[in-house]
Amino acid sequence: MEKQWKRPHRLVLVPCPFQGHINPMLHLGYILHSKGFSITISHTQFNFPNTANHPDFHFLPIVDGFSDRVVSSGNFIDVISSFNNNCRAPLEESLALVMETREYDGEITCIIYDEYMYFAAAVAKHLKLPSIILRTSSAIHDLTYNAIPGLLKDGHISTQDADPILLESVPGLHPLRFKDLPITNFKSINDLLQLIANAHETRTSAAIIWNTMDCLEGKSLAQLQQQSQVPLFAIGPFHKIAPAKSCSILEEDTNCIEWLDKQACNSVIYISLGSIASMDKKELAEMEWGLANSQQHFLWVVRPDPTTTCSEWTDSLPEGFIEAIGERGCIVKWAPQKEVLAHGAVGGFWSHCGWNSTLEGLCEGVPMICQPYFGDQWVHARYLTQVWRTGQEWGDNMERGEIERAVRRLIVDKEGKEMRQRAVHLKEKIDICMSEGGGSYNSLYELVGYILSLKI
Ligand code: UDP
Repeated sequence: MEKQWKRPHRLVLVPCPFQGHINPMLHLGYILHSKGFSITISHTQFNFPNTANHPDFHFLPIVDGFSDRVVSSGNFIDVISSFNNNCRAPLEESLALVMETREYDGEITCIIYDEYMYFAAAVAKHLKLPSIILRTSSAIHDLTYNAIPGLLKDGHISTQDADPILLESVPGLHPLRFKDLPITNFKSINDLLQLIANAHETRTSAAIIWNTMDCLEGKSLAQLQQQSQVPLFAIGPFHKIAPAKSCSILEEDTNCIEWLDKQACNSVIYISLGSIASMDKKELAEMEWGLANSQQHFLWVVRPDPTTTCSEWTDSLPEGFIEAIGERGCIVKWAPQKEVLAHGAVGGFWSHCGWNSTLEGLCEGVPMICQPYFGDQWVHARYLTQVWRTGQEWGDNMERGEIERAVRRLIVDKEGKEMRQRAVHLKEKIDICMSEGGGSYNSLYELVGYILSLKI
C-alpha cells in the first residue's frame, strides 16, 4: 500500500452536484491524483457520488439542507442560489475541523471549485487557503457570457423591447447568431447577469482551469486570457487524460455494449440528450417512427421520466415499439456513454450538445446531429456545425420524415462520410494535444507547478 507521506499536498474539490459538472470534477481529481496530490471531494448530500467507485479519494459530505422543491423547480438560477446560500457554513465548519484536528495526511494546499459553487471562494478566503475555479463548459461559451453586458449596453439586446432578430449575427461573435446565445428569456436577463457576475468573480481566485484544449479553442482561450487577471490552464479533455471509473448517478446499462459488439462498423446512431434535456411524448413517438423508417440501427437512451405515472419506464414509448424494432435497436435508461462513443460500431451521435457530450463525441471522431435545448448547448451546436464542421444542425421540427432523412444523411450519405472524415482528423489533433509536448500536456505540467507555488 502507498505510504501517506508520499502525498504531502491535499486538494479539496467542490463539484456542482449535477451529472455534467460532477463528471469533469471527478476526472480532474484523477488527473491531479496521478500527479501526486491527495484528493478530497467535498460534495453536497444531494446527488452524492458512489464512493465505492472512487477508493483513491476521500469524501467530505456538505450538509446541504436542500428542499426538493427548489431542486426540482427546474429554475437553474434559483437552484444555484440555493446551493450557495446553504453550503457555505457547512463547508467552512467541516474544513476548519479537519484542519484543526489534522485529520488528513498532507496539508490542504488549495480548494478547486466549480464556478457555480462560488461560496467555496469565500470559504477558502476565510480559512486562508488559495482557491482555483474550474469551468466545466467551453471557452467560447464563456466568451459569449462575457459579451452579454456589452451587447446590452450597445442596444443589440434589451430587457424591454422585443427579442432581437434571432437569425442575425451577433457582432464580434462570428459565427454565432442571436438564437445561439445562452439566453432563454431576454426579459429576465438581469438575473442571468447576476449569476454570471458571481460565477465569474475571480478576485479571490488564483487561476482558472478549463476542460478544453488549444487545438480546439485556441483563439477563444487567447481572448479569455487577455480578459483575465489570473492564469488560465486548458488541460482537457479530462476524461481521456485520466479515465475514471463510472461517475454516473444513474446506473449504467452495460448490456448495450454487447449489443454494439454485434453491429457493423460505423453502422449505429447513438441518441442521448444528456442528464437534463428530454423529449415529450409526442416527440418520442416521432423519433420512434423516424428511426424505424430510416432502416438504420440505433442505440437510444430514454431516461425514465420522474413525474410519470407509468408503471414501466418503457411505457413512455409508443405501444408495440420495442417488439417492432427487434434486433435493429437497443433502448436503455442510461448508457456508459464514453464507452459507447469509443465503440467502432457507432457511426453517429444525436446529441443535445452539452459540453461533456460534445467533447466525448469529438474525442472519438464521431459526427453528430446537433439538437440543443438550452444554455451553452446552442453555442456548441453552432461551433460543431460551422467551425469544426463535424455536425449537422437540427431544426425545430421534430417530425418523423425529417428525422429519417437526418439519420440517413449522417450514417449512409456522402455528407455524413465527409463529416466523419473531418471528425477523425480533429480526433487526431486532440490526441496530439494530450500527448507529450502537446498543449494540454504542457498546461497540466505548468498547472501542477503553479499549485505547488501557491501561497495566500
Ligand atoms: N451520460 C452517460 N450516459 C448517458 C447519458 C449521458 O454517461 O446515457 C454522461 C455523458 O457521458 C456526459 C454527461 O452524462 O459526461 C452529460 O453531460 P453533458 O455536459 O453532455 O450534458 P448535461 O447532462 O449536463 O446536459
